[in-house]
Amino acid sequence: MFTHDIILIGGGGAGLRAAIAAAEQSSKLSIAVVSKVYPMRSHTVSAEGGTAAVMRDTDSLDLHAKDTIFGADFMADQDAVEVFIKEAPGELIQLEHWGCPWSRDADGRVSVRAFGGMSVDRTCFAADKTGFHMLHALFQTSQKYDNIARYDEFYVTSLLADDGKVRGVAAINIYNGRLEAIAGKAVILCTGGGGRIFPFTTNAAIKTGDGMAMAYRAGVPLKDMEFVQYHPTGLPGTGILITEGSRGEGGWLKNKDGYRYLQDYGLGPPTDTPVHRKMELGPRDILSRCHMQEYAKGRTFEGPYGHYVHLDLRHLGEEVINKKLPFVRELASKYVGIDPVYEPIPVRPVVHYMMGGVHTDMNGSAPLEGLYAAGETACVSINGANRLGSNSLTECLVFGARAGRAAVQYAAAQGAPSSQRLEALARDEQQRLDRQFLRKEGGKEKIAVIREEMQKAMEDGAGIYRKEEDMKRTCQLLRELRERFSNIAIEDRGDVFNTQLTAALELDFMLDVAEAVAHSALNRKESRGSHTRTDFPKRDDENFLKHTLAHRTPDGPRIDYLPVTITRWQPEERKY
Ligand SMILES: Cc1cc2nc3c(=O)[nH]c(=O)nc-3n(C[C@H](O)[C@H](O)[C@H](O)COP(=O)(O)OP(=O)(O)OC[C@H]3O[C@@H](n4cnc5c(N)ncnc54)[C@H](O)[C@@H]3O)c2cc1C
Repeated sequence: MFTHDIILIGGGGAGLRAAIAAAEQSSKLSIAVVSKVYPMRSHTVSAEGGTAAVMRDTDSLDLHAKDTIFGADFMADQDAVEVFIKEAPGELIQLEHWGCPWSRDADGRVSVRAFGGMSVDRTCFAADKTGFHMLHALFQTSQKYDNIARYDEFYVTSLLADDGKVRGVAAINIYNGRLEAIAGKAVILCTGGGGRIFPFTTNAAIKTGDGMAMAYRAGVPLKDMEFVQYHPTGLPGTGILITEGSRGEGGWLKNKDGYRYLQDYGLGPPTDTPVHRKMELGPRDILSRCHMQEYAKGRTFEGPYGHYVHLDLRHLGEEVINKKLPFVRELASKYVGIDPVYEPIPVRPVVHYMMGGVHTDMNGSAPLEGLYAAGETACVSINGANRLGSNSLTECLVFGARAGRAAVQYAAAQGAPSSQRLEALARDEQQRLDRQFLRKEGGKEKIAVIREEMQKAMEDGAGIYRKEEDMKRTCQLLRELRERFSNIAIEDRGDVFNTQLTAALELDFMLDVAEAVAHSALNRKESRGSHTRTDFPKRDDENFLKHTLAHRTPDGPRIDYLPVTITRWQPEERKY
């Protein structure tokens, strides 16, 4: 058994920021970062476009708050948004001091670019590899602290909790297959999102909602899971993201007639330069719906991977593309054989981000003593029904740091956990894994088949447009898949890098997350942000200006609700 005071599950932006905050707060407490991949391979590394904070005199905290709340379609908790906006600039300056190489203007100031739904330029960036540079800065900073220990390539299978308190985690050392108990007084979930429950996503293969499902199984509700963000510009076939930064720099979306179709959806008139909140800089939920409407009108292209439109960057010129969007040029060339300097890039909407997650307060604290969550896996909530692009990296920093500090305070006041109890909990977990996977004989179902059926069910019932009968069918299918999963076949009985086992564990987690999404969506009988119902096309503040909480029960999710905190911005119609 390993023993620490604080355990971070996840070595992405939120996890490393939380670890550093905890280490800065106390050199005495021992901190463990447990990650199923080497930390630099966390999904944060692939973030491209940038990270938002008020950095210029032309901007204001109130304006950033208003844009975020408006973008969220009034589902964000406004007290949390205010904290977020206020602490964001300090976090970005701190990252600069830790070595993050922000792109700069000629006068030496950190550059800012336009992003969807933001009413001024406020997205700081490091070319179009922002996540890579941020994660590097965090990773190397985390190595300064002797009290941060790392468990790379350890797969956490479960939280260990009893008497209403978290006591640690059970994790498989992927290198030798051994299940280890790691004791901790506080555990912070920084496990990222779960876009892989859908077939077509920008999310890395490791984004399987593990932390959400672990909290859910431990009795913690998942909040606002129905809100799943589609990004309007993914590459057909792979789902690889073409950053919103390309529209922030002035890129255009055109249908098959070469027409900038967004002007037909109340986002016009078209101009040559980016106009905030208009046309291509409208928010992601709206742009994704516009794409689907163009498709319905027969005005999209048809390719081997379905419908798509064009993202045209040619008018920006080679110099701007090379300087500001080099990664976009590289991705388009490598994955679709197109050089955006000379040709438009084929794009279509693609699942990108989960606004919902583990229910927490502003300090990352979840309703299970000793458990915290931050980053994409948490729902604080600042993103409400639709996140604005570039708020998420900043969210990892602000709420990662807050959760790290809160966990220190909590852990410092706790006595040492009983190792006997922990070992007993770990033995139970080993038995569960043996029973379900490792020693199970005669299983017939294939992991890949169930995963594909789940992903298809999610796209059919919980995609960009949703309606009652489709969602009901999806909920029903997910129940059946859960049943079939109990008959899963594990042929690989090896100990070393048993990827079939981890794939099964991930699918197990995803089935829980998918059910929470589908049931939360079915119960929200209105349209708001990313949740668009053709049978309830209007927003309904009277009945649904409230957070959804999904609780796990043996028969599927039980849904209840929580009020949204409104401080200074009264709900109004969301028009751009
Ligand atoms: C392609 C792409 C581009 C993006 N671009 C931007 C952008 O420009 N601006 C922006 O603001 N946002 C962007 N986002 C969103 C943003 O990058 C993510 O929301 C954010 O990085 C999530 O960080 P995180 O720390 O919460 O999780 P992640 O970076 O996903 O890290 C999760 C960590 O948890 C670990 N983990 C998970 N499960 C387990 C387990 N069972 N056991 C052990 N470890 C586990 C993983 O190993 C990993 O270390 C982008 C997202 C994508 C997919």
